[in-house]
Amino acid sequence: MAIVNFMRDLFPSDYAPQPPFLNEALLSKKIKFMLLLCGILSLGFITTSMVGYFIARDSLSKQISTDTLPLIGDNIYSEIQRDLLKPIIISSLMANDTFLRAWVIGGEKTPVDIQNYLQEIQSSYRTVTSFFISDRSLKYYHSTGVLKTIDENSAADQWYFQAKNMRASHELNIDYDPSDPSSLTVFINYKVFDQQGGFLGITGVGLALENVQKILEDYQSRYRGEIFFVDANAKITLRGAPLSKGIDFAKLVDGQSIKQRILDHEIAAFSYREGLHKIMLNSRFLEEFHWYLVVRKSDHNLDDNLFDSLLINLLISLIITIMVLSISWFTLSGYQRRLEAMATTDKLTGLNNRQMFDPILERLLKRAARSNNDLAAVIIDIDYFKKVNDQHGHPFGDKVLVEVANLIKKTTRKSDVLCRWGGEEFVVLMLNCNSVEAMNFAAKLQAVFAATPFSIEEHSIEIQLSIGISSRTTKDKPDKLIFRADQALLSAKNTGRNRIVIG
Ligand code: GH3
Ligand code: MG
Ligand code: MG
Repeated sequence: MAIVNFMRDLFPSDYAPQPPFLNEALLSKKIKFMLLLCGILSLGFITTSMVGYFIARDSLSKQISTDTLPLIGDNIYSEIQRDLLKPIIISSLMANDTFLRAWVIGGEKTPVDIQNYLQEIQSSYRTVTSFFISDRSLKYYHSTGVLKTIDENSAADQWYFQAKNMRASHELNIDYDPSDPSSLTVFINYKVFDQQGGFLGITGVGLALENVQKILEDYQSRYRGEIFFVDANAKITLRGAPLSKGIDFAKLVDGQSIKQRILDHEIAAFSYREGLHKIMLNSRFLEEFHWYLVVRKSDHNLDDNLFDSLLINLLISLIITIMVLSISWFTLSGYQRRLEAMATTDKLTGLNNRQMFDPILERLLKRAARSNNDLAAVIIDIDYFKKVNDQHGHPFGDKVLVEVANLIKKTTRKSDVLCRWGGEEFVVLMLNCNSVEAMNFAAKLQAVFAATPFSIEEHSIEIQLSIGISSRTTKDKPDKLIFRADQALLSAKNTGRNRIVIG
C-alpha cells in the first residue's frame, strides 16, 4: 500500500507543472524510489541466494551421509579385504597345516625344518614375515631361525598371552616386527590346536603396514575425509597420515555417546555437531579383522564450493540490481525531463509559458536588486488579432502566432527571457536594460515587424504590435512591474495602437 501511495505521489495523475528549480522535492522522491527499489531487489536476491545455499548445503550433506560415505566404506572394505584377507587365509592354512602340528607334537626336534617351512611361506606368498610361537617352549620361530623366547614378564611379548586367551580363532595386531624392530607390521595371529583341541601355539604372517595405510590415504585424499580403523574399545588401531596438519586423531571419535554408537551397530551412519561444523560419520564392523572401519567427513570442505557459488550468485544479483537501478534511473529521468518540458513550455510556440514566467521574474528581480541592476519588462500585444482569426480561421491564426513568436525571439538578446504571456500577448524580461534601452528594443521590434510581411498559405498579412514597457524601481514587487507594463500597454491600445508606451 505504501508503495502504491508512493508511486501516486511520484506521478500524480493531475500533474501540477513545476519550474525546474522547484524540482528538488521530485528529485528526493526519485532517490527514495530508487532506494526502495534497491531494498526490494537486494532483499529478494539475498533471500533467494541464502535459501538456495542452505538447501543445497543440507541436501549435499544428506547425500554424503546416505550415499557417499557408505559407498566409500564399501569400496575401502573391498580393497582392504583384498589386501588383508589373503594373509588371513594363509595364516589359517598354516594353523591347520599337518606338518606344523606334527612337528610341534613331535617335540620341535629339528628347528631347521620349521625354519624352511616358514621361509617357503614367506617367499611364495611374499609376506614381510612369517612366524610360529610354540606354547610349550615359548620359542619364537621365524624364517631366519629362532628369534627369541617369549617372556611372560616382557611388555613386548604381552600380545602373545592376550592372543592365546582370546575367544576368536585369530586377530590382527599392529606391532613392531621382532625380526626388523624399525618397521610396524600388521600381524595375523592364528591359534594352532592339535586334534584334541589342545593349544599348541600361535602362527601367522605379517604384512607391511604401509600398504594398508596407503589405501586409506588414497581414499582420504580422494574424498577429503578421515578414514581409520577402531578396535572394540573404540581406540584407533590403524590410520593413514592425517589429511591436514592439526588433526588430532585421538579426538576423531571423541565422546562416549559417539563411541557407543559405533560399537553398538554393525553398520552405523549418523551426524553430529562439532563446534561450527557438522560431522558425518559412517562405520561398519569388519568381521574378519574384529575392527570397525570408520569414514568421517566434516562439512568444512563441503562449504567451500557452495560458499563460492553463493558469492557468485550474490555478485550476479548485485550486477542485475545495478542494471535495474540504472535503467530505472535513466527512464525516470527521461520521463521527468519530458514532464518538465511539457509543464514549462508553451506547446504552440515553444516559448516559456506563464507557469515558468512567475518564478523566473522573481529570480531576475532578486538578482537585479542584489547587484542594483536595471530590469525592464516589455509586454507585446498583436493589434486586431481577432480579425486574423475571423478572416482566415483559427488554425491560420496559430501559424501566425508561431511566426510572430519566432520573429520576436530572433530580435531579442540571448540574456532576455521571452514568454508567451497568453493569447496573442508576449512578455520579454530584459536584465541590465533601463526603460530607454527597452524602448529602443521595442522600436526595433516594431520596425522589424513593419518590414516583414507574413506570407502564410498564400495570404500576406501585416502584423502591428502595441507595446507597454516598465522598468524596475527599488520598491518593486514582481506583480507591480508587470502591472505597470500592462497599464502602459493598455494606454498604447487606447491611444491608437501600433505604439510604445513606457509605464
Ligand atoms: P486588440 O488587441 O488590438 O485590442 O485586438 P485583438 O483582436 O488582438 O484583441 P482581443 O484580446 O480582443 O483578442 C485576442 C484574440 O486572440 C482573441 C482570440 O481569438 C485570439 N487568440 C488568443 N489565443 C489564440 C491562439 O492560441 N490561437 C489563435 N489562433 N488565436 C488566439
Ligand atoms: Mg490581447
Ligand atoms: Mg491583441
